[in-house]
Amino acid sequence: MTERRILLSSPHMGGTERKYVKEAFDTNWIAPLGSNVDAFESQIEEFTGTKAACAVASGTGGIHLALDLLDVSQGDVVFCSSLTFVASANPIIYHGAVPVFIDSELDSWNMSPKALKKAFRRYEMKGRLPKAVIVVNLYGQSARMDEILKICRTYDVPVIEDAAESLGATYKGRQSGTFGKIGIFSFNGNKIITTSGGGMLISDDEVLIRKALKKATQAKEPELHYQHEMVGYNYRLSNVCAGIGRGQMEVLEERVQKKRYIFDRYERSLGDVPGVHFMPEIEGAFHTRWLSTLTMDGTLGVTPREMIEHLGEGNIEARPVWKPLHMQPLFKGTDYFSEDHDNAKHLFEHGICLPSDTKMTEEEIDRVIKRFLEKVHMYQLPA
Ligand SMILES: *Cc1c(COP(=O)(O)O)cnc(C)c1O
Repeated sequence: MTERRILLSSPHMGGTERKYVKEAFDTNWIAPLGSNVDAFESQIEEFTGTKAACAVASGTGGIHLALDLLDVSQGDVVFCSSLTFVASANPIIYHGAVPVFIDSELDSWNMSPKALKKAFRRYEMKGRLPKAVIVVNLYGQSARMDEILKICRTYDVPVIEDAAESLGATYKGRQSGTFGKIGIFSFNGNKIITTSGGGMLISDDEVLIRKALKKATQAKEPELHYQHEMVGYNYRLSNVCAGIGRGQMEVLEERVQKKRYIFDRYERSLGDVPGVHFMPEIEGAFHTRWLSTLTMDGTLGVTPREMIEHLGEGNIEARPVWKPLHMQPLFKGTDYFSEDHDNAKHLFEHGICLPSDTKMTEEEIDRVIKRFLEKVHMYQLPA
């Protein structure tokens, strides 16, 4: 008997996606733009309470475009969270700009306001204030946006909110992604909802989003002939993919509930194991628990790597926490500002992501818990 492989986070269709994709086929709106793109953008605007949205082909492309819209170019400094997926910072390199990485705080695992302040002070002294700050909301939780925005406002530097992992989360009652000058979502296959691949730029600045639309379609000027005055990209989301997005938006809240349920099951069964510390939900935050994550300290006697291997042998997919970008060979020599201790490094060395697939059954959640406890030599589920 082979048990089904339990995945970290895989696409989970709601059922109506086919209807919207079929609509695209039936009307032959296969090519970019069309009613699915418009409707998907409206859904995101309505859900987040933002004035304008621009659907793009990927979250990475969205960040590339956002930096362009904020006039980031060759040699400019851009601050960015260190503990994140590489796609948060790659677009800085596309523009020939210089990334400077900022540590996490242990409370939220997101950008540390304290480390951010340090970086601002240093770069103000150097006379090289950043052109933008990319703040990442990890694993479904918003960063401490009020404090971060206050610091950035002091220096009059705009924030790009990388909310690729936090669609559906809130902070102090506001939707994640709406705090920065520009917010970015991703609909890659592993995200809380997917369009098979895609992303979205949001902003309350409608002029900026109109410019994003233009830039995402080769920046063609309104002339009969092909007239171009600025650099553009081919970054729009296809109308077929947007059809998937329309259906997925209808089940987003259901997905958030299930993600949080999975986390609760893990926390109830594993939260009392000495040495296990689940990612905290900070005050004022509503965490989607896109991925259930925890750290394992020395008292546990098991390393994350050993645990991941053990789960893997049981046909269960688990992963380490993102390797901080300041530790990546790609960014060797890049400036980095930490709190007193390097928290991002600590979270990487001790962190683990457990399966958070919304298609998991009760039995499958139990399988993960049992297998985890087996490794820490506790053979019985707590009553
Ligand atoms: C997934 C992800 C991205 C990139 O999104 P794509 O749609 O895959 O290009 C960017 N930042 C973070 C934090 C992500 O998790």
